[in-house]
Amino acid sequence: AYVVADPCIKCKYTDCVEVCPVNCFYEGANFLVIHPDECIDCGACEPVCPTKAIFPETELPAKWKEYKALNADFSTKW
Ligand code: SF4
Repeated sequence: AYVVADPCIKCKYTDCVEVCPVNCFYEGANFLVIHPDECIDCGACEPVCPTKAIFPETELPAKWKEYKALNADFSTKW
């Protein structure tokens, strides 16, 4: 699945939400998150993110590795 990381915090754009074919973006605390089981790995969101906050989970920078769990938590808890 794709993962939303730190640059998304307080971002006001929702280009990713508009291009996602399966609507798997959800509101996190102060950033958007991707539901790991609903994401179909299409890759459409990554290039349209103006803050370059979206990564395939295998390419998530080490400094933001906790975002994998944050995306899962925020997208599945409520
Ligand atoms: Fe949605 Fe595709 Fe991005 Fe996954 S990779 S969040 S399915 S747009």
